[in-house]
Amino acid sequence: MEKVIEKENCTGCTACYSICPKNAIQMKKDKEGFLHPEIDQEKCINCGLCQKTCPVLNTKENKARNQCYLAYNKKEQEILTSSSGGIFSAIANYILNHEGIVIGAALLDQKLKHIAITKKEDLTKLKGSKYLQSDLGNSFRYIKENLKNKKILFVGTPCQVAGLKSFLKKEDENLICVDLICHGVPSSKLFEEYIKELEIRENAKLKTYNFRDKSTGWITYSNEATFENKKRFTQLAKDNDYMKLFLSDVALRESCYQCHFKLGNKYSDITLGDFWGVKEHYEKLYNDNGSSAVIINTKKGEELFHEIKEQIISYECQLEEITKGNSSLIKSAEFTKKREKFFQDFSKLDITKLSKKYSKKKRNWKARIKRLFK
Ligand SMILES: Cc1cc2nc3c(=O)[nH]c(=O)nc-3n(C[C@H](O)[C@H](O)[C@H](O)COP(=O)(O)OP(=O)(O)OC[C@H]3O[C@@H](n4cnc5c(N)ncnc54)[C@H](O)[C@@H]3O)c2cc1C
Ligand code: SF4
Ligand code: SF4
Ligand code: SF4
Repeated sequence: MEKVIEKENCTGCTACYSICPKNAIQMKKDKEGFLHPEIDQEKCINCGLCQKTCPVLNTKENKARNQCYLAYNKKEQEILTSSSGGIFSAIANYILNHEGIVIGAALLDQKLKHIAITKKEDLTKLKGSKYLQSDLGNSFRYIKENLKNKKILFVGTPCQVAGLKSFLKKEDENLICVDLICHGVPSSKLFEEYIKELEIRENAKLKTYNFRDKSTGWITYSNEATFENKKRFTQLAKDNDYMKLFLSDVALRESCYQCHFKLGNKYSDITLGDFWGVKEHYEKLYNDNGSSAVIINTKKGEELFHEIKEQIISYECQLEEITKGNSSLIKSAEFTKKREKFFQDFSKLDITKLSKKYSKKKRNWKARIKRLFK
């Protein structure tokens, strides 16, 4: 087998890598910093399992329940240390209370990896959104081995959940999957470059990085970095060069511009996101610390949501109220021709210059009027 799929469609979900009976597939970084499967032709026996397992090649329509909620954690501290309303930690606590395993993304030594935790004190490693692609490593094989004895909660992007479900083939009572409303993922290389520049500027090694620091508010969140010399750098996300590049859609994985795993094709039990339009629809319920949009996709998801009701505040709402402020749930990021030029410039320019050149500019009122007349 020469390749599993065309490169631009591959999400890097690792299902093919995990299923290969000959270990003929390695996940290798391309020049943009995204992991892709590479087949060792010497080892490959042309069994075709990798293509049969790839969730992009075998996309199917998944009819979901689409029961929607506005929700947040009852504990203020849980909300403040989470990206949205702290619903992930409520679910994770339930699984850990039942001696289960929680698998999610942790930033360790500036590398984002999926790790497994069994203790509540490790939950902080998983909490919070990290805006780059996470390396799944051998998570899928680990899950398969441990499902027999334990409840497992897997949290990831919709394509990662689709990959896991495809790899496992059949439903397992012990597995709960939560995915996120997903705008797309920038490459790990972009984040590494950004951190390198921060470290040079601060003349110290990075200790922690928080993409959703809420000390400036939930909607007006900041990025926060702490360094080994005890220095702290914080900047509103709207002014932060890394976040500006992420949200300008020039640095996303190619598959994110034609994502197969939006609403209508969900493989998870529950989908979590920010309830961005909350003030417009439910002004009285607005929580300054953060509110989650929760979409229940399956019966298993509904049962789990019922189990965590004691830990959270929730109100049933309409799907349209969520999608109105959150188009990422239903459609992919718009492809921009600037992407190719961006990655050519990536090795030549620093992040500040890249941000100046490629970030979406806010149009002023004069430009808006000009555009209207045009
Ligand atoms: C790359 C990315 C893009 C997103 N885009 C949107 C969007 O457009 N609109 C929207 O409403 N919400 C988006 N989200 C989801 C949102 O930011 C919150 O993660 C979600 O609402 C859960 O919040 P919480 O407070 O319940 O949990 P949190 O405590 O914030 O937990 C977040 C969970 O996500 C997992 N996670 C974090 N980063 C990654 C990653 N890179 N890959 C896989 N898993 C990860 C963590 O392990 C943890 O389980 C995005 C998240 C990510 C990671
Ligand atoms: S065809 Fe079979 S052996 Fe070859 S890479 Fe795919 S899964 Fe592995
Ligand atoms: S989408 Fe997943 S299964 Fe398909 S080729 Fe890419 S890594 Fe392999
Ligand atoms: S936008 Fe789609 S392809 Fe991209 S990371 Fe999210 S789920 Fe995966």
